[in-house]
Amino acid sequence: ILKGKAAVVTGSTSGIGKGIAEQLAAEGADIMLNGFGDEKEIRQLEQNLAEQYGVRVAYSDADMMKPDEIVEMIKEAQRVFGTLDIVINNAGIQHVSPIDEFPVDRWDAVIAINLTSAFHTIKAALPMMKQKGWGRIINVASAHGLSASANKSAYVAAKHGIVGLTKAVALEVATQGITSNAICPGWVLTDLVRGQIEARAKSSGRSFEEEKKLLVAEKTPTQDFSTPEQIGKLAVFLCSDAAAQMTGAPFSVDGGWMAQ
Ligand code: NAD
Repeated sequence: ILKGKAAVVTGSTSGIGKGIAEQLAAEGADIMLNGFGDEKEIRQLEQNLAEQYGVRVAYSDADMMKPDEIVEMIKEAQRVFGTLDIVINNAGIQHVSPIDEFPVDRWDAVIAINLTSAFHTIKAALPMMKQKGWGRIINVASAHGLSASANKSAYVAAKHGIVGLTKAVALEVATQGITSNAICPGWVLTDLVRGQIEARAKSSGRSFEEEKKLLVAEKTPTQDFSTPEQIGKLAVFLCSDAAAQMTGAPFSVDGGWMAQ
């Protein structure tokens, strides 16, 4: 259903972004990958997606903390594919600390990568979407875009911010065939969360597996993780014509977290 469309997925070298890139490719979209990681593994991912789904795949190493590199990534996608129809703002980092001990540079980095980078991609990508009268912007926010947890001030602020940005953009382009939505995952077992479980296990003395269960149980009524594939399939639906009237909204994939 996405043949002839091209997508940029930020932070797609692992976790949720990789899952979204794979699901978009499976529907025929050309993909520009982005994110850090082992060069060989990234080349392998490019090749796998291209071969498995018969789509064009490119990669940008743009750092989501650097506005110039972000704008260049969008231009490069437009050049390479001749179009850019879908922007998935997914790159993100976490830092866990009480606010009175929160390192200033970590605050700045979380806000830059999790929030400000989306401003830059959207600003750069919208003119072509407006020209074509079709576009899809999907921001990977979080359950923390809708409610808070202690010791995650920068992350919660960035994620609430990106839900707001999602709505503001939706209003600005509402009559132009472009939608802007947010996906709000609960827990997904990615590197970002493995790091948090490891830190908890280290301070509690419990095993990784025990901490994993406890972490999920604290917030998640279903007592289970969501998967990158499930998030990717929602992104595909939001890109489809069936979702043309869904805009300016956060969509939870969180095992019931927000129902509490
Ligand atoms: P992850 O660590 O597996 O992936 C993060 C990706 O972002 C990687 O590809 C990494 O290379 C990239 N990245 C990090 N800093 C970057 C930078 N400066 N420039 C470019 N790329 C950069 O984590 P994930 O869990 O897949 O997270 C993806 C998104 O999902 C994030 O926005 C995160 O906040 C959000 N999210 C995750 C969960 C969860 O439980 N895992 C829940 C809700 C929301």
